[in-house]
Parts: sequence; C-alpha cells; structure tokens
Amino acid sequence: MNETESVDTTGEAALPPSADVVVVGAGIAGLCAAVVAAERGAKVVILDAHEPGGRASTVTRDGFRLNVGAHGLYRGGNLTRFLAARDLEPAGGIVSSSSIDVLLDGTVHHLAMNPLGLLRNPVLRPKSRVRMAALFARMPRMKTAALTGRSVSDWLGDEPQDLQRFMEMFIRLSTYTHAPDQFDAGAAAGQLQMAFKGVRYVDGGWIRIVESLRHRAVAAGATVISHAEVTRVESTGNRNEVSLGEQCISASAVVIAAGGPDVAARLTGATVAGHENLTQPVAASVLDLGLQRPHEGLLLGMDQSVYLSPHAPLADLAPAGHGLVTVMRYLAPGESAGDPVSAKAQLRDVAQRCGIADDDIVLERALHRMVVTHGAPTAAGGGLLGRPTIQALGLSGVFVAGDWVGPSGLIADASAASGELAGTAAAALCASMVR
Ligand SMILES: Cc1cc2nc3c(=O)[nH]c(=O)nc-3n(C[C@H](O)[C@H](O)[C@H](O)COP(=O)(O)OP(=O)(O)OC[C@H]3O[C@@H](n4cnc5c(N)ncnc54)[C@H](O)[C@@H]3O)c2cc1C
Repeated sequence: MNETESVDTTGEAALPPSADVVVVGAGIAGLCAAVVAAERGAKVVILDAHEPGGRASTVTRDGFRLNVGAHGLYRGGNLTRFLAARDLEPAGGIVSSSSIDVLLDGTVHHLAMNPLGLLRNPVLRPKSRVRMAALFARMPRMKTAALTGRSVSDWLGDEPQDLQRFMEMFIRLSTYTHAPDQFDAGAAAGQLQMAFKGVRYVDGGWIRIVESLRHRAVAAGATVISHAEVTRVESTGNRNEVSLGEQCISASAVVIAAGGPDVAARLTGATVAGHENLTQPVAASVLDLGLQRPHEGLLLGMDQSVYLSPHAPLADLAPAGHGLVTVMRYLAPGESAGDPVSAKAQLRDVAQRCGIADDDIVLERALHRMVVTHGAPTAAGGGLLGRPTIQALGLSGVFVAGDWVGPSGLIADASAASGELAGTAAAALCASMVR
C-alpha cells in the first residue's frame, strides 16, 4: 500500500437505492440496532443527519475531551452487556463510591459511604440514619418490580422528610430524573440497585464507544452515511421508502433511532402509542471546567438538584497533570434552565463551594439545556412496561429505538436495549421475507 492509499473502516458510501434494513440515526440506539441486524445477515444502511454519535459524541477543546455532559457507563447496564458480548468494553476509571460530599443549606458536608460513616451521617437526623441504614441494607435484594405503578414520592412517603430528600438525591444521580411525583419507583429503585454495581468514566470519551460500535457494524457489512438527513419514512405494505429530500432508499425494514418520539412521529406522520406514559423530556444544564490541576470529590446537592464530579484524571479526558470536572443542574421535566448567564453563574457557584477557584479554571464550556432522555417512565403509565414499544408507530416494518423505548433500562441503557430489540426484529422480518 502506498502513502495515499488507506483502508476505509468508516463504511461511508453513496446512498444505494435499496437495503434490507435502513437505520435512521447513528447514536447509541441506531448503532446497536445496526450491529445486531448486520450480524444477523441483513444488508444494513445507517443514515445520520450529522456525524455518528448523537448525544454520545465527544469534542476536543485545548486537549480536554468533552462529552455531552457528564457521562457514566453503568457496569451492570444494557450497554455494557451489549459491548462486553462483542469484546468492545471501553477502558476507563471506575467511580469510587467510598465517600461523597453533600451540599445542604449552602454548606458542603463530607459523608463516608461505609457503615460507620453512614451511621454518623451529618445530613440526616439520628432516627433517619437508622431507617436509611435499613433501606440501604435492603436495596441489593429488593424486588424493585413490586414498586411499579407507585411514584417515588409515594414509595418514600412514609420516611422522614430528610431521608426522602437524601434518597431523591441518589435517584437523581443514577437516573437524571428530578420528578419524584411522576417517576415510577420500580424504575428508579431498579436503576439505584444497578448503580451499586459501579459506573465507569470512559477514556477518550463516549465517542470511543460510538467508534467501536460503528466499526463493529461496518465489519458485519453495514454502510454508514453521515450528513444524510431523513425527511420522510413511508410504509407501503412490505416495502418502506426512506426519503432524504429528493433522494430515496427503499428497505424491507426501517429502524427510527433519531432522538425522541416527536421525530419518529414527524418522519412517519403516525402517532406514537404509549408516549403519554412518559414524562416530558428530562434535561440538564451543564458546565464543564478544565482545571490546572486535578480536583477530588463527588458532590451532590440535597436541597438543590445539583452535581459536581471530577471525570479526569479518573478517565483519560484531560492533558497530563490537569483535571476535568462537570457541574450540572438536573431540571424537572419541562423546566426551563432559566437565562444562560444566571444558569452558568449558579453552576460556577457550586464549583466555588467545592474549592474550585477562578484561577484554577483553564477551560469552560456551558451546555445550557441538554435533553438527557426523551421521557422517563411514569408511575401512572405503568413504569418501564408502559413505555412505547419498538412497534409503537403501528406501521408494518417500521420500528423505533431510543432512551424512551422498551421495557428495559434507562438513559443510554434504554437506547442500547431498544436498539438491540429493534435490530433483531428488523433482521427477523427480512429473513422471513426471503423464506
Ligand atoms: C448531559 C447528559 C448527560 C448524560 N449522561 C448519561 C450517563 O451518565 N449515562 C447514560 O447512560 N446516559 C447518559 N446520557 C444519555 C445518553 O447520552 C442518551 O440516552 C443516548 O446517547 C441516546 O442515544 P440515542 O441513540 O437514543 O439518541 P441520540 O444520541 O439523540 O441519537 C440520535 C441520532 O439521530 C440523528 N438524527 C436525528 N434526526 C435525524 C434525521 N432526520 N435523519 C437522520 N439522522 C437523524 C442525530 O444526528 C443523532 O445522531 C446523558 C445525556 C446528556 C445530554
């Protein structure tokens, strides 16, 4: 091979006239769907309006690798399982759960997460500490499905108020969802239970996960086409037409993994069954701070829905000797992030309370309001089992996937699980047509 030749591992190509399966969207959901369908022998084309990655993208600024806000990979979750089954688990640092700092009444309290530390818990009254110890002890064996149909507020309603707020703080941390009156307790407790298995911050950022899924899909024969915005998906019996403006590709099956239910509805003109069982999109206001030197300590707000976590050097996301922290405010579903200047000032104030001085900061990036998930499962909607299914559009051969779809997992784990289900169903449909 001479210097100008290279092997194309991206799988990029011109739009072919047809495919077995067209996947719309190359985020985690679309890539998982494409991997599974291609592994099962389907001819797969993946189209993304931008570069692959979606909300699992990472950008590099001055040597700092910035995810779309704080991203932790749940070691017990569906995405890890999907990656591990293909030997694609990324390298990174496991978040220590030995202690946390709790922000309450404007003061930072240090809390050792061991039996003695928890019994001396400075943010709970003595009676609440005993109840909390009992709740934490029960948690690993708890049958969380039995809580389905009850809201978080209802589940914790018999506990003292300080313990309710304490538990809600951990629920926000593991689910991003700040909606105790609506959020299904079965889903919340299941995620908390899973979070105890640990979280990994990924070296190089989540784009590494995206790249490995993309390469896996391409190795299995899939074609990826970036900057290809789908404008319409039409289901016509046993063929589906996918339009990109003037251009068109036909497919036996289509997986729409292009973000939320609103996009799936807009592209097809169909109604998404079960969307009423979700909260409004769950969003966060984010501030990434590149630091001169590493900072230690995870901070959670107990009376404010805020978070601060050092992502580097735990994971390789910053230049040598530097640190990277992400500060966030969890927004209630539908809540505005307020005006950008005050939203950022509030997050800077949280950093300051943690001892991060202005002089320490060498890079700052604010994301004013980012959608973390396109809807959390509500108690009234039956929890995870009430979420829209992959066939929620009711169109033959058209499936949906994303962090609001299917009976398993939350946030990216829901995208991975529903992507896997949709890719499997799409490939099975193609195989049945050949027979
Ligand atoms: C601040 C923040 C923090 C988060 N933290 C975590 C975390 O710690 N752990 C975790 O598990 N998850 C986390 N998440 C959630 C996680 O990032 C998402 O759930 C997941 O990445 C969603 O993947 P997706 O494929 O379903 O959707 P997306 O990533 O939104 O992908 C959709 C893709 O479709 C493409 N697209 C849209 N419209 C079209 C069109 N018309 N034609 C073609 N392509 C189109 C888009 O370009 C995009 O690439 C976080 C998210 C945010 C915002």
